[in-house]
Amino acid sequence: MSVQLNRFMSVMVAGALVALTMATPAGAVFDPIGTEPVAPYAQPVDASVPKRGCTTTPADPKNTVSSTPAVQVIYAWHEGNGNNYEAYVERIAKIVDRMDWLLDESTNYDQHIKTSCRTGYDTSTYSGYAHALVIPEKIELADTTGETGPYAIADDLWAAGYDHDNRKYLVFEDFNGTATAHCGSVCVATTDDWDSATMMHELIHLHDVDHAKVSEVPNTFSLNDIMISQYNDWQIDQEFNTYYDPSETSALFYTSSYPDTRKVNLATLAQLTTPTCCDVGYSNDLLTAQERTIEATAPYSSPTGFSVSGGGWMQVTPPGSDGQVSARYYDGRRSLTMNVQSHAEGFVSITRKPAVTAGQRYKFFARLTTGTSGNVKLRLSWYNGSNSLISTSDSSLYALTSSWQEYNVSAIAPSGTATVQLSVVSPSGQNFSYLTDSWQLNHCNNTGNTPDGCRLSG
Ligand SMILES: [Zn+2]
Repeated sequence: MSVQLNRFMSVMVAGALVALTMATPAGAVFDPIGTEPVAPYAQPVDASVPKRGCTTTPADPKNTVSSTPAVQVIYAWHEGNGNNYEAYVERIAKIVDRMDWLLDESTNYDQHIKTSCRTGYDTSTYSGYAHALVIPEKIELADTTGETGPYAIADDLWAAGYDHDNRKYLVFEDFNGTATAHCGSVCVATTDDWDSATMMHELIHLHDVDHAKVSEVPNTFSLNDIMISQYNDWQIDQEFNTYYDPSETSALFYTSSYPDTRKVNLATLAQLTTPTCCDVGYSNDLLTAQERTIEATAPYSSPTGFSVSGGGWMQVTPPGSDGQVSARYYDGRRSLTMNVQSHAEGFVSITRKPAVTAGQRYKFFARLTTGTSGNVKLRLSWYNGSNSLISTSDSSLYALTSSWQEYNVSAIAPSGTATVQLSVVSPSGQNFSYLTDSWQLNHCNNTGNTPDGCRLSG
């Protein structure tokens, strides 16, 4: 096993994948068991992880042409390390349960993996469910003395009759293999390092999602995400703006940097159930995709959904240097530019006032930068049901820098609140321009998991 560079779609010219794996234990017996990530917070113990169960009616796994799209879980073995299916079948099922848990737990949307099961087992017991879910397959094409790549896995499955377009194959390799994703004769997500985040990372790659990029800065990775640090993190796109937005499945995001022009939304993957609102999860957002990313409006024009008042005027950021444009004007990403004027306090606001609940905590995140220097603060303005202002909650005053830093303010909605308005406020007496992007309004209802119930910064 090794660092694996692989194009996961043969038609892709960009979007090369990097999948790191852990060291192979020495000795004759291969140990595939990996370590589960514990960020943004610890996962539940095995006994508390909900059992995913079978989505499809148990059937012949080699004849799924008329079945709903689903994942097919495979235990892959070869002569070199032998067939340890019975030893591992329940462990693999539990990892799939955890994959389903982390998808559902990432956001306040209820969404699950669709699983394919075979006939012949009593799925009311855990052992029966595991045996129906996980199918053993000897990989005849495997390299029994060295590393086996995903091409051999895909070709072997196809030859064995696991050849349906409506299946994504999750292949748990009990030998020296690779953590990667590959669509060849069939689409396979493979790993010889078995943990839920590594396998989920590879399954997400099969939806054309690259490693998570910071939206504003070319070729910079978003560090707190399953699509870059699956060894530490299990959460999926906590900002709702990189590749996954279950609240608006028509929204699409650039998954990689220029010149790649693919746009995706993981929430539409056919092997997942339709997302439904609302439950409690790690992250959530009360804004629309346009309010978060400003991508639907052309450069130079007035940003749809935003208003300005006081000292200044705004526009969708014109083309410019990579560091100042979000991220590059020509790959479709946008930011908002506020040109601050000194005669009065200036406000950039989301025009719409999302509904909130009095007594609950909310957190407003925004990324901000400037090519010069200047000071701003973030503001939550609380309104009652008659659209009258009750009070405001401000962050401290921030001296902006030349990097796209994330800032935030959080507060509890006061008694009588019905809606909230989000604003960036520039005190009077300044003449400068700043850029803003990646807004998010988080309802901090994740009580007991993060300190204030909000998603973490970063
Ligand atoms: Zn990867």
